[in-house]
Parts: sequence; structure tokens; C-alpha cells
Amino acid sequence: MNEQWIYLDGQYVKKEDAVVSVYDHGFLYGDGVFEGIRMYDGNVFRLEEHVDRLYDSAKAIMLDIEVSKEEMCDIIVDTLKKNQLENAYIRVVISRGVGNLGLDPFSCKRPQLIVIAEQLALFPKELYESGIEIVSVASRRNRADVLSPKVKSLNYLNNILVKIEANLAGVSEALMMNDQGYVAEGSADNIFIVKKGKILTPPGYVGALEGITRNAIIELAEKSGFDIKEDVFTRHDVYTADEVFLTGTAAEVIAVVKVDGRVIGDGKPGSYTNQLLQEFRNTVTQDGRKVYKQNAQVG
Ligand code: PMP
Repeated sequence: MNEQWIYLDGQYVKKEDAVVSVYDHGFLYGDGVFEGIRMYDGNVFRLEEHVDRLYDSAKAIMLDIEVSKEEMCDIIVDTLKKNQLENAYIRVVISRGVGNLGLDPFSCKRPQLIVIAEQLALFPKELYESGIEIVSVASRRNRADVLSPKVKSLNYLNNILVKIEANLAGVSEALMMNDQGYVAEGSADNIFIVKKGKILTPPGYVGALEGITRNAIIELAEKSGFDIKEDVFTRHDVYTADEVFLTGTAAEVIAVVKVDGRVIGDGKPGSYTNQLLQEFRNTVTQDGRKVYKQNAQVG
């Protein structure tokens, strides 16, 4: 096993030595932002789009990132090279940095940038073949006008409470509604439903993160000529859908075959889900930034 190197505040340190101060406001208050990115066969999938979302999240919480977007992309790529990775999960964390015990973020002198890249632990193949079961939970999505779910912040307690409820019910993912009862998303995935050939996913204002995988699926579906749009829907629409699937950097596209005990469609991943998963997998090694430059084409 190769040594794992973490990018921590301008230098590479060994995993065992990669520690942050107990006065870091990311630790004390969840004050910071992050991204989860994936590299497929040396291609960082939609790197720029992830970096854009990171900077938007940082702007929303008035956190000044000290490097440019281009430098951020280079740091991520260098971290992957340093760890000699081909297929990886990448976590970029920017915390408010070290301050005093008070809440005031302006007591923090400078933000702390961390990039962790590690070999990817894939979801088991069977999950894609058989689909998963989810349950709806009592915890509601943060209201978008209180703490926007578009901000990918280090404060993930809303999602963690949802995950606990799902785990207690014996499943690994949840169906989360917003305060008005409209379906928002999972604990760490976006949701899509398919009914009579129409594909729907909740719009951002309902309380969904603008997932990079979600965006890719919308584009792929449009390219295939599918009828897809953002719209609000309720649990009833999920129960009675022909297909339900979740999307996310880790999960990719995963079928949901049971929701609150109701079997979805015929209880197996449906044809739209399977086709979109296949198309997504065809694009992930192409769409993004190549880490290891290929030999220049001759002629
Ligand atoms: N919603 C939430 C709350 C998430 O944490 C994630 C994972 N980042 C997603 C949706 C899916 O987003 P993406 O496709 O960008 O991974």
C-alpha cells in the first residue's frame, strides 16, 4: 500500500500527520464548505463544475478562498498525482480556519484548505442490479430561506439526522421532504421519478442540492430525447411512480425499488434508470479533466 498524502494548507503531509487545530471553526461550528469529487480512469469528472459549486458555497457564507479556481483545480490534480491514483474519491474541505472560541468568523485569520484523495471503495455491483429500499423520514429538509441546501457546508446535521432515521429503519438511504411535504432529496443524493415516460426531479428551491450527477443526468436524458423536467411532487407520486432512482457522486445512478414498503414498478430497476446509468458510465471517463496527459497525437 502506497503512502497516502493529504494536501493540508499548502503542503503534503502523511495521513497520520494530517491534523487540524481544535480551535478551527470548521471543527467548532461546522463553519466551512466542501466538495466530493470523483476520478474515473484518470479523468476527474466535471472538475470545473465542482469547483464552481465550491466557490459559490464559499461566497454564500463569505469565506474568501485564497487561491483562484484554476489554482484550485491544479491543487486537486496534483494531489491525485502525488497519490498515484487512477480511480478515486476526492474530498476538498475549506474551513473558516483557526479562531478563538467565539462564534465570530472574523476572528479566524485565514481559511484552511484540505484535499484528501483516496482509492475509491465502489458500491457493491448487486445494488445496481437489484436496486435499494428507502423510507421517508420525519426530519424535514432545511428551509431554503434559512440555510440554503445549495450551500454544501460543513454543517451536515440535517442530513445526519435523516441518515440516523434511515439506519434505525434498517435501510441505508432516506426520502426527505421539505417543510411543506414536497419531496426534496435523499440524505446525500438527489431523487428522480419516472411516470408514463415523464421524468421529474425536484427543483432547487424545494430543498435539493444542485447535484453534479443530477445535472449530468438531466443533460443525458435531454440528449436521448426523454421528457424530463424539474417540478415539485409528493410522496404519493413516488409511491405510484414506474421508476425511482437516486443520483450522487458516490452512488452514481441507483434504482429505488421499494419506498415505505410500496414496491416501485415491478420491483426491479427500470429501463430508464438502466439506460441513464449506462449513458452516465459512458461519459464519466470523458467529461472532465484528464490528470495524466496522454501522448500528443502525431499528424
Ligand atoms: N444532495 C446532497 C445533500 C448531497 O450531499 C449530495 C452529494 N454531494 C448530493 C445531493 C448529490 O450531489 P452530487 O451529484 O454533486 O454528488
